[in-house]
Amino acid sequence: MLTIENAVDGKRYVSTGRRVPVFNPATGEVSAELPLSTLSELNDAVASAKKAQVAWGNTPPMKRARVMFKFKALLDQYADDIAREISREHGKVHDDALGEVARGIDCVDFACGIPQLLKGEFSRNVGPSIDTYSDRQPLGVVAGITPFNFPAMVPMWMYPAAIACGNAFILKPSERDPSASMLSWNLFMEAGLPEGILNIVHGDKEMVDGILDHADIKAVSFVGSTPIAEYVYQRGVKAGKRVQALGGAKNHMVIMPDADLDQVADALMGAGYGSAGERCMAISVAVPVGKETADALVAKLKPRVESLKIGPATDKDAEMGPVVTAMHRDKILGYIDSGVEQGADLVVDGRGFTLQGYEGGYYVGGTLFDNVTPEMTIYKEEIFGPVLSVVRANDFAEAVKLINDHEYGNGTAIFTRDGDAAREFADKIEVGMVGINVPIPVPVAYHSFGGWKRSLFGDHSIYGPEGVHFYTRLKTVTTRWPAGIKGGAEFSFPSVK
Ligand code: NAD
Repeated sequence: MLTIENAVDGKRYVSTGRRVPVFNPATGEVSAELPLSTLSELNDAVASAKKAQVAWGNTPPMKRARVMFKFKALLDQYADDIAREISREHGKVHDDALGEVARGIDCVDFACGIPQLLKGEFSRNVGPSIDTYSDRQPLGVVAGITPFNFPAMVPMWMYPAAIACGNAFILKPSERDPSASMLSWNLFMEAGLPEGILNIVHGDKEMVDGILDHADIKAVSFVGSTPIAEYVYQRGVKAGKRVQALGGAKNHMVIMPDADLDQVADALMGAGYGSAGERCMAISVAVPVGKETADALVAKLKPRVESLKIGPATDKDAEMGPVVTAMHRDKILGYIDSGVEQGADLVVDGRGFTLQGYEGGYYVGGTLFDNVTPEMTIYKEEIFGPVLSVVRANDFAEAVKLINDHEYGNGTAIFTRDGDAAREFADKIEVGMVGINVPIPVPVAYHSFGGWKRSLFGDHSIYGPEGVHFYTRLKTVTTRWPAGIKGGAEFSFPSVK
């Protein structure tokens, strides 16, 4: 049985902490044992990071970039292996896992440009012989706490930028699928990253609290569900840290009457059921405008959902894999029950789905609800499974209001051929990431990712330029040369006369 290690101070070793199983969701078998790191191991990691960061923070950005370039080349080389680790512990199909790795690598690519990104601003002659420059300096030791659903990409939203900026990083990956991060750590070390700059500790709430309370950790990036994001934000800020905490989502797609419904149905299949709906940018609510649009859309979706190919990642034809754990599967099934009880029309029922030869796996069949209303639990809460709800709207204004009234504001999309409607939607919608005829508008690595409302706590979005700002602090230096200029004492507030 594989035992997953810590990575502290440049070394991998088995923690002495209590052990939890890591499952293969495709079969339900235990694939590894994960010892949860102890708080004393966290202290060792932070001490090592603190020491190593001094030299790393003073290393010329061009040299730091060279390590990032090598890391990127190794990630490209081993992308397939990382994807296999993801599929084994998360369950997503191989192509989907490869896509995740590619989007993570994009963030490393972005971090390769760190010399340019850290270039400051300079103003000559802001006063007589006085110049001012501003530059961004690393924070020191920073940490990241990540969810199960993107075990390689979400950590890469964080540590490449943080490290390129000159910080040392403590990563606590999801305890459900930590192996992709361990393999990435090996590659980063092989690329020449100094010992102590990236440390990986494992754990649950106890470790998260240890990170939030540690006086030497200056900033925390968190991605996960909204209740935990809010908790992490509040506790971290109280402890004096800079915190960005990205939470859950309920992403709507508005379908205008002029949209191409075949294109829409295809887009909804990928966005609703890809990765078994376990994406924070998954579309979980379709909002067709007008009865005719709604009827036609449901008719097109039904056969597609019924014929979804579900299987383990090893099945090349599978479009969607299992969900992550038995507990999560049961939670999703409970939501489907509640939708039925509360009066939604169950068009395709994914309960009771089993796969021959994989009876122990955590599969849920594709599920489609019609006539869902805003009071229903399946509308209000994030299900995070292969369940798509159709909420019918009478007109565009009603669709916009529905979305703006929802507590989450991560992503949204509109499908239309009407430029006026698309522009008005982009202007009025209270959501952080908007797609116009694009179902999953995850920004590329050189933009930044972040929701609004209860999908993000804190002032910074993640990765891209916002990532560089989050992991650095601004220093502005005003200089007067030559130093010998004498003007006598001045008691009025300095200003340009
Ligand atoms: P989760 O909130 O259960 O766990 C996230 C992290 O918090 C994990 O590292 C976990 O160990 C830790 N954690 C769990 N319980 C804790 C507790 N009580 N106290 C402190 N820490 C705790 O989330 P998950 O199930 O791993 O991931 C799915 C969630 O993440 C979904 O809600 C999804 O929308 C969200 N997500 C959001 C984004 C985004 O960018 N907004 C991206 C990916 C996932």
